[in-house]
Amino acid sequence: VVAHGQPTHAVETTCAYCGVGCSLRAEMQGAQVVRMVPVATGGANQGHACVKGRFAWGWTRHRDRVTTPMIRERRTDPWRAVGWDEAIAFAAERFRRILADHGPRAVGGVTSSRCTNEEIYAVQKLIRGGFGTNNIDTCARVCHAPTGYGLRQAFGTSAGTQDFQSVDQADLILVIGANPTDGHPVFGARLKRRVRQGATLVVIDPRRIDLVGAPHARARLHLQLRPGSNVAMLNALAHVIVTEGLVDRAFVAARCDLESFAAWEEFVADPAQSPEAVAEITGVAAAEVRAAARLYATAGNAAIYYGLGVTEHSQGSTAVMAIAHLAMATGNIGRPGVGVNPLRGQNNVQGSCDMGSFPNELPGYRDVADPAVRALFEAAWGRTLDPEPGLRLPQMLDAAVEGRFKALFVHGEDLAQSDPNTRHVVAALEALDLLVVQDLFLGETAAYAHVFLPGTSFLEKDGTFTNAERRINRVRPALAPRTGRHEWRIAADLATALGFPMGWDDGAAILDEIARLTPSFAGVSFARLDRAGSLQWPCNDAAPDGTPILHVEGFVRGKGRFVPTPFEPTAEQASRFYPLILTTGRVLAQYNVGAQTRRTDNLVWHGEDVLEIHPDDAAARGIADGELVTLASRIGSTTLRARLGDRVPPGVVHTTFHHPVGGANVVTTDRADWATGCPEYKVTAVEVSRANFP
Ligand code: SF4
Repeated sequence: VVAHGQPTHAVETTCAYCGVGCSLRAEMQGAQVVRMVPVATGGANQGHACVKGRFAWGWTRHRDRVTTPMIRERRTDPWRAVGWDEAIAFAAERFRRILADHGPRAVGGVTSSRCTNEEIYAVQKLIRGGFGTNNIDTCARVCHAPTGYGLRQAFGTSAGTQDFQSVDQADLILVIGANPTDGHPVFGARLKRRVRQGATLVVIDPRRIDLVGAPHARARLHLQLRPGSNVAMLNALAHVIVTEGLVDRAFVAARCDLESFAAWEEFVADPAQSPEAVAEITGVAAAEVRAAARLYATAGNAAIYYGLGVTEHSQGSTAVMAIAHLAMATGNIGRPGVGVNPLRGQNNVQGSCDMGSFPNELPGYRDVADPAVRALFEAAWGRTLDPEPGLRLPQMLDAAVEGRFKALFVHGEDLAQSDPNTRHVVAALEALDLLVVQDLFLGETAAYAHVFLPGTSFLEKDGTFTNAERRINRVRPALAPRTGRHEWRIAADLATALGFPMGWDDGAAILDEIARLTPSFAGVSFARLDRAGSLQWPCNDAAPDGTPILHVEGFVRGKGRFVPTPFEPTAEQASRFYPLILTTGRVLAQYNVGAQTRRTDNLVWHGEDVLEIHPDDAAARGIADGELVTLASRIGSTTLRARLGDRVPPGVVHTTFHHPVGGANVVTTDRADWATGCPEYKVTAVEVSRANFP
């Protein structure tokens, strides 16, 4: 029950949900939060918030919250509630035994993009220093890992180029594979406002998302391409730009690597890349593609915003590079109103990548194989580090199934619901000798755990989140940890129990350590954030007030780099038995696997996942609106309620994965991006039939 009445005081903090990172004021009555109010001076939101941040915070005191550590010998035993010291000692003893028997490469961990930078830094330090391995990954693996790879190839750094307010100066906005009004609502509203003011909007998406027909902010063009054809579409846009003389030659000459540009130009100019040649692949009329390319290349300021509809493909990294090429070829980079902007899913996806959660990178995206980089961290941490890059999460799961990987520390991620091919994930979790889960609730993954370490809600955390525009925001505790222990301290205590002492007084001390070791964070501290409100990295001597827009004078890598991006069709093709293509997404009121939002009143807006299906496809199968249907792929099958409508074209169906019942990931495959292993959630060949209950 939420207390009502006049607040007695307030604490300014940051939303727990999406990558917009809205500043919110938790208004308190004594020790109770009574409401969340968007902060007018919030750098990312300027007084706005959505239905998630504003209302969906009651889960923080939900009866399902686990507040006491729990252990069990076997995963079939009942949980036994214990004190923190016993839980840490139990986990440490198990880890120690496995490390002795199988070595550090049989052990690993996953960090959480819902946790603070300080907590993530602590967990990756535990894994590298305490376990002695680079087997570390982040839940960004399953969403924006291709962004990290693709933008780094082109620009030299793995981050969006603009601040959000940059969109206010865009003349053309190209949204590809993103649904900002549902996924990033406060930014989506800002984008629509700019379109109402006169900017041209082009949407590239297999679904007719709300932006396409938004009142007074309607898209000029909607290129409703087939799922899996992004790269062919992006190459076709580039073809028009190159062959119709729309390249910004002066920008390319001054800012880009000319040899790589020449190779790319020759590749995209080939008639095989033309809109006409790929119309069969994309399903979009060539005239519309040509019109979109001309609009993008000739607008004064053209900005691209993209999301998981770009990254979660077998060619996710290729598509990110192709987007970066469009921006460089037309000179749409390095000033307000332009740029390449990944819309990050979780509130701290950017931070989890920044903090060294990838198996090949220490904090600040520094190569773990580089002896000079390792020496810096070894000197600071007092521990020799493994020079070999470690396993990615899917590789850890595969190795577990094969018996080569024995123990996993999962920090705030529900792998058994969020990752593709649930059956394979469960087989991997069952094969582990030790699974330690640190989370808020007993989710699907915790069913396979031996140790459960309760985590803190955002209202109990003291640290920072980094949003999609690289904005580091303070997360201040409105409440004391209900569990009695901060999450960073859990990692520190476990590391210490393993003989690798990790001690800090508070979150501020951890951020100070991050700043000492990470050049892009060198000027960041709690004190500076409290004075400035927020800071966008890089923030250091060269940019003491932070960096709202990247690549203004030159790219981080020097000259911008192009690479040819040939289209390779995904192996996941429709067939006679699986003739439809399933693509997955999110809705406004719910958030990811729903662990938090399902435990709030937002449930009234989205009580179950449904399957959107075109009326023609439904009629062909005798399916009525609201009827339960079986959704089957080559991997598995599940039951969902059908919703008929033309948001999806014939041949395509769509669902969300906010609820464990129905679980879309029972059917998604473990096909993945060639460069990063990011799963191909957006393309699964399926069949739909009326559910046949006995
Ligand atoms: Fe802002 Fe995103 Fe939170 Fe909504 S979910 S309030 S848009 S940060």
